[in-house]
Amino acid sequence: MERRSFLRGALSPGLLAQTNVAGSRNLVVERAVSGTPHVGKVLALITPHLDDGPIFASGTIAKLLKEGYTGYFIRTSNDEKDSFGLTLGETVLANERDTQQFITTLGLKQAFDLAYRNHRMDDVGRSELRGRLIFLFRLLKVDTVFSYDPWGQYEENPDHYVTAQAVEAACWMASGRLDLPEHFAAGLKSQAVSEKYYFARGPQLVNRVVDVGATHETKVACIHSCRTMIDHMVKDTKAALAGRKLTLPSLDAAEYIKLAFESRDAEVGRRHGLTYAEEFHYIGPDHAFDEYIARNAVPL
Ligand SMILES: [Zn+2]
Repeated sequence: MERRSFLRGALSPGLLAQTNVAGSRNLVVERAVSGTPHVGKVLALITPHLDDGPIFASGTIAKLLKEGYTGYFIRTSNDEKDSFGLTLGETVLANERDTQQFITTLGLKQAFDLAYRNHRMDDVGRSELRGRLIFLFRLLKVDTVFSYDPWGQYEENPDHYVTAQAVEAACWMASGRLDLPEHFAAGLKSQAVSEKYYFARGPQLVNRVVDVGATHETKVACIHSCRTMIDHMVKDTKAALAGRKLTLPSLDAAEYIKLAFESRDAEVGRRHGLTYAEEFHYIGPDHAFDEYIARNAVPL
């Protein structure tokens, strides 16, 4: 993530309304369902930084895990720049440890750290990153992904848009017979990723709002698990205030999370009659041939 946007979000809630640029058209509100209808399905959260998923999507992921999904986390950067008062090496280790805490807190099965250098992902070979994601999508048999919106607007962090574009392309190429065919010799099979939940820091096309009221506490715990990054946010805020000869004695991690993130989910929820909600650009399975198949398909 990036510090300034948190402050903007925390201190100027009115800006949050801008995130939905075409929300009313074909908007679906996804609510909790009973039972475990998603047993056998696999989701992957793919982000450059540890805190991206907890902040934007962990309420929805917690809901889907409760409903039967198995989940994985693929962290594409090494988060070496995100701490306060630590060296670069100490920062990598601290965020690596926090990553383990996050996957335990959310109930994900495993984390894969691709470990590209933080803030330098525009140096990464796009086809290399895409190839690594295709390998993991096939290995883990990923049905559903969560990531940054590759079409999100005003995104300033190269780690975010490079990862987002690689995810989007890998989703369809993973199903290709002639893309990286050596995987098949190693026993993997092609894999179609059929559902995508994309989130964004700036304006995006929102067509899916997810009721995360029932998983709000888990989400807050997930954000707390990004201990090094939240500490960075709090101390950066205090350092900026100190420059103005001000201090906020009451500002700690819990207060910051409430101001910057819980208030955002509450504001999104309020617009849809919910207590807390997350919003996405959702792309689902292609049903274009369903009717034709129903009318004409015969047993093989
Ligand atoms: Zn980020």
